[in-house]
Amino acid sequence: MHPVKKDVRALTKEQLRQFFESQGEKAFRGNQVYEWLWIKSAHSFDVMTNLSKEVRAMLEAHFVINHIKVDQMQRSSDGTIKNAVRLHDDLVVESVLIPTSKRTTACVSSQVGCSLDCKFCATARLKRMRNLNPDEIYDQVVAIDNESRLYFDRPLSNIVFMGMGEPLMNYNNVLKAVAKITSKEGLRMSPRRITISTSGVPKMIKKLADDQVKFKLAVSLHSAIDEVRTSIMPFNENFPLSDLREALEYWYQKTKSRITYEYVVWKGINDQLKDVKALINFCKFAPSKVNLIEYNPIDDGDFKQADEEAIDMYVRFLEQNGIVVTVRRSRGKDIDAACGQLANKS
Ligand code: SAH
Repeated sequence: MHPVKKDVRALTKEQLRQFFESQGEKAFRGNQVYEWLWIKSAHSFDVMTNLSKEVRAMLEAHFVINHIKVDQMQRSSDGTIKNAVRLHDDLVVESVLIPTSKRTTACVSSQVGCSLDCKFCATARLKRMRNLNPDEIYDQVVAIDNESRLYFDRPLSNIVFMGMGEPLMNYNNVLKAVAKITSKEGLRMSPRRITISTSGVPKMIKKLADDQVKFKLAVSLHSAIDEVRTSIMPFNENFPLSDLREALEYWYQKTKSRITYEYVVWKGINDQLKDVKALINFCKFAPSKVNLIEYNPIDDGDFKQADEEAIDMYVRFLEQNGIVVTVRRSRGKDIDAACGQLANKS
């Protein structure tokens, strides 16, 4: 029987050095391999020409290099690019490049499918199949960085964890990926340019605060009234707003980092004055701002974007109460690349 070969990219540099020592080789070979894997994005041991043939064969016998593969790239009329990314076990996730005049933002996935059940989100229709590994998250970012350089002549500037999955349900791997993205041996990106978006898992938000992370936090709030929120995001039943609020207060105390609330206004669901008032009240617990995002219809008729007047009412009341609010227009709708539309349609 063949033992299952390990993914060499799951090893830290130190572990690679130890591996070489255990094989009677010089530890610094580990640094060389690490550099091939992470700086030069090597996809095979064969290309590692500063290692002898024997050493390469020895690596081949112990390890595989699991790389993602961008299977299909779609471009929207607004410049947005969506990648269908095939993983080593043939599962597929999606990531999106969103260009604006000044920035390029990568929107990356953290899970295959999603463990949550938000009624308005296409990804929720796929059940969660597995968590992504740190390198699978990292590779999505590298792929988009390359596309940004190729098509827009500039490097990637921002990353949002708003693709498929709930990042805080894949906590360790997401943090490892961020560590790689921000490290000298990775992309050297500032953590201030990275945002993790969560549907709001109180325990994990507190853990982020305890771990003193330096990236930004966004919470998909959508309603500050328990009954309404539970009807559209059923897991709110187990993580009610009072727990979320406590966790967010804790987050702010520890990090002093302002929270962004993502919020869609739907006709007949959360478009009344009482909904706005509840949101204003919720915003007072910790310094925050509100992003009103446009609803991207998924194939059924239960949810409809609210009327202009309702959105205007939100903006007016929030501003009157000193809360920063932006209205976000969707990007990449024509290729199903907008928020909540990622569902491996093709
Ligand atoms: N699980 C994480 C990240 C993925 S969702 C989270 O919940 O934050 C990214 C954002 O898209 C969330 O704010 C989510 O609420 C929003 N979203 C989901 N479906 C949507 C849809 N159909 N239209 C607009 N936004 C949607």
